[in-house]
Amino acid sequence: MTEQIATNSKYVDPFGRSIDYVRLSVTDRCDLRCFYCMPKGFNDFEEPDDWLTFDEIERVISAFTALGINKVRLTGGEPLLRKNLPELTHRLSKVCGVKDMSLSTNAVKLAKFAKPLFESGVQRLNVSLDCVNPEKFKSITGGGKFEKVFDGLMAAKQAGFSPIKINMVIMRDVNDDNVLNMIDFCAEHDFILRLIETMPMGSTGKEASQRYIPLDEIKQQLEQKFEMVPAVQRGAGPARYLSIPEKNLNIGFITPISQHFCETCNRVRLGVNGTLYLCLGQEHQYPLREILRSGVSDEELKEHLIKALSLKPKKHEFNEKPDNIIRIMSATGG
Ligand code: SAM
Ligand code: SF4
Repeated sequence: MTEQIATNSKYVDPFGRSIDYVRLSVTDRCDLRCFYCMPKGFNDFEEPDDWLTFDEIERVISAFTALGINKVRLTGGEPLLRKNLPELTHRLSKVCGVKDMSLSTNAVKLAKFAKPLFESGVQRLNVSLDCVNPEKFKSITGGGKFEKVFDGLMAAKQAGFSPIKINMVIMRDVNDDNVLNMIDFCAEHDFILRLIETMPMGSTGKEASQRYIPLDEIKQQLEQKFEMVPAVQRGAGPARYLSIPEKNLNIGFITPISQHFCETCNRVRLGVNGTLYLCLGQEHQYPLREILRSGVSDEELKEHLIKALSLKPKKHEFNEKPDNIIRIMSATGG
């Protein structure tokens, strides 16, 4: 099968997948050091001159919308570290064709930014939080303060974000004993909880993957404790949802390792330096920064994007080749 622009102008890749979602990394820096993501002391960051400017980002996203991409998620690194982020989200919200704009954050700085981001057009929010025990949180994140995340979450609720999704990476003997606490926390605050399998990205991800737990194991434990029924939850992603009626809570299970979802993968990732990554678990990539800076026409840019998207591989190989990916998650735009 060859790639094509379907009649509804959605790009369909060589494996028949409609690509309609870009995850946009606005920085590779971070104010936390989650041990499964960024190595301690890591400082091999992209130089500011190599970051795509807001003008360049807006141009690429506009070009993507011409191929049918209509969902954008801002991520990083920690996106709230990028200066004037609400200005960028405001600009992207005005790009014709962007129907859904969301943000992934560690929420450390969210208390300050929740309101301006909501007002600038960010519609949905995912917050990474692996436990609600301040001491454990500090240890997992290399010194993070749980209270700041909590304040950020409360500010986000107040600003109007609803629902707010909480992403919890599950690791054996690190936080697998915290799932019930997280369920109570999310039920109390009306958040959606999403459990994620650890992926072997970079040296940190590989080390953390020694603590990998297939989520079916957690699901079975929960089923012994609660009645759980299938649920439907709006979102652009691969989570499978169950609901716990007695808690009035939805839980998503994201299983890239035990049950991959590559055959329905609808996304690509744009790094802060303009490199387009076609898959989290493969090296396939397409450098766009120099192309953008070379005076390329809109039509030529679109041709480059079509060429880039056609490189999207069939599947990741985290299981077959766990040493494949030396990039850490924050460098790709998780
Ligand atoms: N800093 C923001 C945050 O933490 O939400 C956005 C970027 S972070 C790289 C995006 C997501 O990647 C987070 O939910 C984080 O938990 C996840 N992540 C990072 N490294 C991972 C790994 N090795 N395996 C699974 N998920 C990982
Ligand atoms: Fe930073 Fe997010 Fe990576 Fe944690 S997961 S180190 S918050 S980029």
